[in-house]
Amino acid sequence: MQNSEMSFRESVEVMFDRAAALVDLPPGLQNKIRVCNSTYTVRFGVRIRGGIETFTGYRSVHSEHMEPVKGGIRYALAVNQDEVEALAALMTFKCALVEVPFGGSKGGLCIDPAKYNDQELEQITRRFAYELAKRDLIHPSQNVPAPDMGTGEREMAWIVDQYSRINTTDINARACVTGKPLNAGGIAGRVEATGRGVQYAIEEFFRHPEDVKKANLTGGVAGKSIIIQGFGNVGYHAALFLSTESEAKVTGLIERDGALFDEAGLDVPAVREHITNTGGVKGYANATFIENGTALLEEECDILIPAAIEGVINTSNADRIRAPLIVEAANGPVTADADAILRKKGTVIIPDLYANAGGVTVSYFEWVKNLSHIRFGRMQRREEEGRNQLLISELNRLFADAEIPVAFSDRFLSRFSSGAGELELVRSGLDDTMRLAYQSMRREWHARPEIDDLRTAGFVVSIERVASSYRSKGM
Ligand code: NAD
Repeated sequence: MQNSEMSFRESVEVMFDRAAALVDLPPGLQNKIRVCNSTYTVRFGVRIRGGIETFTGYRSVHSEHMEPVKGGIRYALAVNQDEVEALAALMTFKCALVEVPFGGSKGGLCIDPAKYNDQELEQITRRFAYELAKRDLIHPSQNVPAPDMGTGEREMAWIVDQYSRINTTDINARACVTGKPLNAGGIAGRVEATGRGVQYAIEEFFRHPEDVKKANLTGGVAGKSIIIQGFGNVGYHAALFLSTESEAKVTGLIERDGALFDEAGLDVPAVREHITNTGGVKGYANATFIENGTALLEEECDILIPAAIEGVINTSNADRIRAPLIVEAANGPVTADADAILRKKGTVIIPDLYANAGGVTVSYFEWVKNLSHIRFGRMQRREEEGRNQLLISELNRLFADAEIPVAFSDRFLSRFSSGAGELELVRSGLDDTMRLAYQSMRREWHARPEIDDLRTAGFVVSIERVASSYRSKGM
């Protein structure tokens, strides 16, 4: 894993400083924006199997230039203060880059979720949520968590229920956390949002031939070979959409217990089913199994997508990475030292603060939905359908006597005559967000010769936005 002498937080700070040096900031503001405002450590006991187990959790608030602050809750044994603070900082810059009006935060619980049954995990999650909520570290207008590694819809449902039990008269209680299941106030398209965002990010990159050329690639996404590390929420959905919709080939997949490789392209749903049934990739029949999975990061491919954990591309392997394009679906997969090596080699990196912003973008939509107490599309869907059907019937009437018969294709008729529901609106909003954010990064990348990578460009855009927010507060 991370072989750098720098910690994850230091690594993020090095990347931040590199960009901040290129932004005209008043004295002292660079440091103010860089530091993490606060980190709350909570230790609590839960009665489990006749004994009491003590757990340690964190909630960091990196920047409150906008509130609420936003960021996921991670369940993993490796969770520590440094990691949570690094992730909270990334949230600040991610939200700014995709113009989501939140400050940055992150939480984590030191736990191996695999060691507990559902009932125990619920007890632990509810207690953690209680500890955070009573300090307003879960709150619809102050701090809104979401899923991250090791957590998902289920944990978010427990959290919203726990918050509602403490705040019985809060009409906006459902907005205290995002990533909830639909029946608990969630939004269509949130589960797959981060992976979907990775797909949209890659598609937008390939819409700009000038940028594609910088990665020594040509053409579009179709046919490109992809290696993905991590087949959880983010990695699986990215792999699924890129292979089934964008027509790319997922040739490699790296998981905890090893890797799979198939030059012709893996059957993504089949691999997923195998993992669900067996708990790992080992034993999957239709691909080559590689015991030392991490070695596959160095295999030849067009696009490498680390979608698991931080620090996997570091000084020990950076110079052997052969992919010309790296898309950081995970947070912090490339250390600052490795980033410097890769930049020198000419590798193009689509950075985490942009590439995995799909999750927080759709979380923002969910939060807005919860505050407005109405499903997106509910008011206008049928009205839109009615108008479109009216137009079609009027055109049919006008062309009824045409010499050359005019007929709409079935595909056009079915698409044009149906109004947009919540899922279609969420996808449209996410696609628009990903396109605009990429364009804001690439403008800096191409306009300023001193900016030679997308990460620095992304940080520059974000830092300018955060700084202007501080300025308007009189700082
Ligand atoms: P997840 O828990 O659903 O999946 C993580 C996957 O990575 C698991 O399948 C796990 O087995 C695998 N993994 C863990 N360590 C590994 C290793 N050393 N080598 C290979 N595989 C390994 O988590 P997720 O939600 O998909 O998050 C993955 C990354 O994406 C994290 O960095 C997270 O911060 C980031 N992210 C997640 C979201 C989200 O909405 N879930 C949003 C933004 C960023």
